[in-house]
Amino acid sequence: MATVVQKFGGTSVGDTAKIKRVAERIKRRMEAGDQVVTVVSAMGKSTDKLVDLANDITDDPDPREMDMLLTTGEQVTISLVVMALNELNVEAVSLTGWQAGIQTECTHGDARITDIDKSAVQDYLDEGKAVLVAGFQGISDEGNITTLGRGGSDTTAVALAAALGAESCSIFTDVTGVFTADPRYVKQARQMPSISYDEMLELANLGAGVLHPRAVEFAKNYSVPLIVASSMEEVEGTLVEEEPSMEKNLVVRGLAFEKDITKISIERLPNQYDTMAVIFKLLANEGINVDLIIQQTTSDHALNVSFSVDTDKLGRALEILEENKAELCYSMVRHQSMLSKVSIVGSGMISNPGVAADMFETLSEEEIEIMMVSTSEIGVSAVVPESDMIKAANALHSKFKLDAEELEKVEALSS
Ligand code: ASP
Ligand code: MG
Repeated sequence: MATVVQKFGGTSVGDTAKIKRVAERIKRRMEAGDQVVTVVSAMGKSTDKLVDLANDITDDPDPREMDMLLTTGEQVTISLVVMALNELNVEAVSLTGWQAGIQTECTHGDARITDIDKSAVQDYLDEGKAVLVAGFQGISDEGNITTLGRGGSDTTAVALAAALGAESCSIFTDVTGVFTADPRYVKQARQMPSISYDEMLELANLGAGVLHPRAVEFAKNYSVPLIVASSMEEVEGTLVEEEPSMEKNLVVRGLAFEKDITKISIERLPNQYDTMAVIFKLLANEGINVDLIIQQTTSDHALNVSFSVDTDKLGRALEILEENKAELCYSMVRHQSMLSKVSIVGSGMISNPGVAADMFETLSEEEIEIMMVSTSEIGVSAVVPESDMIKAANALHSKFKLDAEELEKVEALSS
């Protein structure tokens, strides 16, 4: 008998009719002979609504209380799914994060899972019950309820799959799988049959919202086969695995894009060994995540440093730089918002030079200004104006032969 873990996201449990459908799906899977653990998110947009409630009361909620509040969303869903299963004559039990043995770090809002005591879940499975686990939550050593960061139910599911040695972990969602690009913006995007852990991790980190990056990290570290599939239609999804065999001949496998990026430039800093360390320590200590960094020396040996942050961190970043102006000794800070980051990803880049050059050429043909660039072994990202983001994504999708029509030609060649 195999153990499988499956996860249903917020839209898939958005109302009671959908919850009944999830229960039927769980029942079918159990009838096929599997032990089934199901992780669910809060119903629909209920986490956002809880955030709004807190914001109505304070701009600065206590992080512990915020986690206490947000974890209620998932608890609503687990109990309702169990009731729906009981109506179908299936024995089931709901477990909060702590009841399911999910131990996390002692931070709130974005805690990492440190350990899972699977015994309670395993015991219920062995009794023949369907087990429903609240996603996105755990408990710290100090006994406080924590959350894993927005979208963290994916991570709950994969971590449980790893702990239970499950055969697979399926993430059921409102799309049918992982696409070469977000199909809402790139009409030629198509679903991938499979993708490697590394490529998926890169895409998730670069803004592809389909999977929580930490879920992919877990899947990779514990070699959990991860399936992304539709909760509505019973069609083949996308398999995230070690080394997918198909489409090896594609250098670029997918692209991701995200907006709300701001570039901050600090001009004329003293050119000293510790200048960079001092600036980025100050920002890091305030929890400001810096993405791309560019450093230049002027002809008279001063330093100019530019970096990008999420636009909602701009205010705080400027305050920190202003508060430390005397220590940092710069002449001026500029910033530019309404920017976006467009990235191409593919393991084939490691052995194919010229991918970045092709990317820049495409953007220049489209007359899109490139403001910052970063590269990794399997990705290239360009910061471009937000107004050009969709145009850039579509142009790059065609350029790297990801369009649906192009793919048919590639497939014809390799068969
Ligand atoms: N309910 C949480 C959120 O909306 C966690 C999740 O859905 O994965 O972010
Ligand atoms: Mg999600």
